[in-house]
Amino acid sequence: MTELDKDINKLKILISENEIKNKLKELAEKIEKEYPIDEELYVICVLKGSVIFCSDLVKHLKHLVKMEFIRISSYGNETKSSHNLQAIDLTLPNLENKNVLIVEDIIDTGLTARFLTDLFKIKHHPKKLMFVSLLNKKCARQTAIEPDLYGFEIDDKFVVGFGLDYKGYFRNLPYIAYFPE
Ligand code: 5GP
Repeated sequence: MTELDKDINKLKILISENEIKNKLKELAEKIEKEYPIDEELYVICVLKGSVIFCSDLVKHLKHLVKMEFIRISSYGNETKSSHNLQAIDLTLPNLENKNVLIVEDIIDTGLTARFLTDLFKIKHHPKKLMFVSLLNKKCARQTAIEPDLYGFEIDDKFVVGFGLDYKGYFRNLPYIAYFPE
């Protein structure tokens, strides 16, 4: 850990493990109201940041779920969005006329959400498409887009934990935290 310029001991908890747990149940109930329970649901996990949120969320869903994984990168090793979206893997099965839920860790500038929503609508023609995000940095938005569902609205600060990283670290923290200035 010596090369880390951010020290885990300095992290401040923003959203606790318990708050996240409760929110996951709440979000799952909302999702269940949006998609018929007797129809299969394709859950698209946007790697890497959504891996923990998505894995925990699907455990609460009663649908017949199929999980798919795509990989996009926008931050690199920085704490500010590079605005340089890299689609690393967008391989997906045929989603035409399927119920689809895109699961993201956080919406910041909104550029990733905009890219994915447009891509899914134009290329995949789903029956129903929704976008759920654990966190929403509304104040950082650079394009007019809102997730259909989200867990918590947060200020424009760089956060880690519950899948979100800094230089690849801290994804395993069971809470959301930040480094005070
Ligand atoms: P956007 O395209 O909305 O600017 O950024 C979306 C992606 O940027 C997220 O999926 C996430 O990977 C990354 N990101 C945005 N804000 C944060 C943050 O506060 N912390 C971390 N670790 N990643 C973030």
